[in-house]
Amino acid sequence: MAEHFDVLIVGAGISGVGAAYYLNQHNPGTSYVILEAEKSYGGTWWTHRYPGIRSDSDLHTFGYSFKPWVGPPIATAEEILNYMGDVIKENDIGPHIHYRHKITDASWSSADALWTVTAKNLETDESRQFTCNFLYMCQGYYRHNQGYMPEWDGVADFKGQLVHSEEWTDDTEYAGKNVVVIGSGASAATIVPAMAGVAKHVTMLQRSPTYFRTGRNAIEIAEELRTLQMDEEIVHEVTRRKIMYEQAAFTEMCIKKPDAVKKLLLGNIQELLGPDYDVEKHFTPSYRPWRQRIAFVPDADLFKGIAAGHASVVTDEIDRFVENGILLKSGEVLEADLVVASTGFNMNIMGDIAFSIDGKALDWHNTVTYRGTMFTGVPNLAWVFGYFRASWTLRSELVAAFVCRTLNHMKAMGAKSIEVALRPEDQGMEILDWMDEEDFNPHYLERAVPLLPRRGTKRDWQHTQDYWREKDEFPAIDLNGSEFVYQGAKRSDIAAE
Ligand SMILES: Cc1cc2nc3c(=O)[nH]c(=O)nc-3n(C[C@H](O)[C@H](O)[C@H](O)COP(=O)(O)OP(=O)(O)OC[C@H]3O[C@@H](n4cnc5c(N)ncnc54)[C@H](O)[C@@H]3O)c2cc1C
Repeated sequence: MAEHFDVLIVGAGISGVGAAYYLNQHNPGTSYVILEAEKSYGGTWWTHRYPGIRSDSDLHTFGYSFKPWVGPPIATAEEILNYMGDVIKENDIGPHIHYRHKITDASWSSADALWTVTAKNLETDESRQFTCNFLYMCQGYYRHNQGYMPEWDGVADFKGQLVHSEEWTDDTEYAGKNVVVIGSGASAATIVPAMAGVAKHVTMLQRSPTYFRTGRNAIEIAEELRTLQMDEEIVHEVTRRKIMYEQAAFTEMCIKKPDAVKKLLLGNIQELLGPDYDVEKHFTPSYRPWRQRIAFVPDADLFKGIAAGHASVVTDEIDRFVENGILLKSGEVLEADLVVASTGFNMNIMGDIAFSIDGKALDWHNTVTYRGTMFTGVPNLAWVFGYFRASWTLRSELVAAFVCRTLNHMKAMGAKSIEVALRPEDQGMEILDWMDEEDFNPHYLERAVPLLPRRGTKRDWQHTQDYWREKDEFPAIDLNGSEFVYQGAKRSDIAAE
């Protein structure tokens, strides 16, 4: 027998737990369940275990709007898990979560206006079935516990240990060892300083450089407000607003004056590493600032490790692995006892779930997204895909409020299903791939483009990276608009609020 819920949430990461909070607050009486493949909540912060694991967003905006963050802005995974644990406890979300339930299939029946979801209980290997009216996809964007590992020649000859940062386990030794970290993103920039001074030496091996920002792990306005003994609710809200305002201004400056921003970022690094350091070679990316996420390095610890000689950066390409390390294209051999591949993700398109609509397999690439959240031809489903330039959670909360409003609207209308469809005025609109490469182009997204839904040229039919506009646009969406098609509605004249 399938168990039935009004809403089924996929994943108990920051998005899924936030979704449950919003349902509790805005849709009392709505039954929901969260199915989570892992043994515990936290998603990213539960599965990543590598040394130094921390956020690179501030927790005032990565944390929820409704739960003040009271610690330093850049937080460890453990601190984030504790915070999420408090949210779960304070809002009685725990009993709604079924852990170790990996969803494999989801099929929509138009006749019943229901999703049937099959999940495998990873403890017992049994399959369980659930039905739900609305499927709320909070599954994140990459496969947990299985990072992207390029195929290098000679790996079998390597006598040391090779591990992907996403698959790091606590028993991996690095003290006193020669470590090479392959990669230049936020994870590599976290692992290198965490190991510097403990390992014999840490080398960050990158094919191409990344932009970094540095700063104190503190936010002045939060400190000031606390000195004035303001309530944490006020500290949180004011600090959030200030951060969001400054981020929007910074993004605008990146777009309007990329050369000035580049000069600012690189000048800072030159100052930290000294005038003789080759910043041009190791820290000057070929792309405009903001086409990929700019990693934040709190207290400049990465650069302090390099300046102290505990760590170094090599910008080169891997020719092959050899017995004692990595042979580079330049002919140099980087000796290594341990190689950590921090080489990115394998995208998990919609939780790697096999979807079908009325018995027909669903190819997401044939759908067009409505604001990166709903999809043409896919009823009663919303997807959370957060921001990359701003904190992910800012978007997951916008989507949560939208989903709650939609469910209430459907209830008021007596509608059994909602689906988005291109309007007459959208006919003939050019349909493009998911991401505008000019705007944002990380490699894992590029690899996944053939599997991702597509977008139109109008804003409504795109996933944008623009919180500053979306924070006003999402609450203003008219649910009576002609892009929304309802089935089974008894009334169609209900106000959208
Ligand atoms: C190391 C690291 C650091 C990051 N730091 C930041 C940061 O500082 N700021 C920022 O904005 N973003 C950051 N990100 C991006 C980050 O992933 C998101 O911000 C956020 O944590 C995603 O939350 P989520 O709940 O949407 O997804 P996730 O954290 O990915 O959680 C999704 C959950 O869904 C579960 N799930 C997936 N598929 C299924 C299925 N089929 N069945 C059952 N369960 C399923 C997974 O097990 C997982 O627990 C970081 C990412 C990484 C990898």
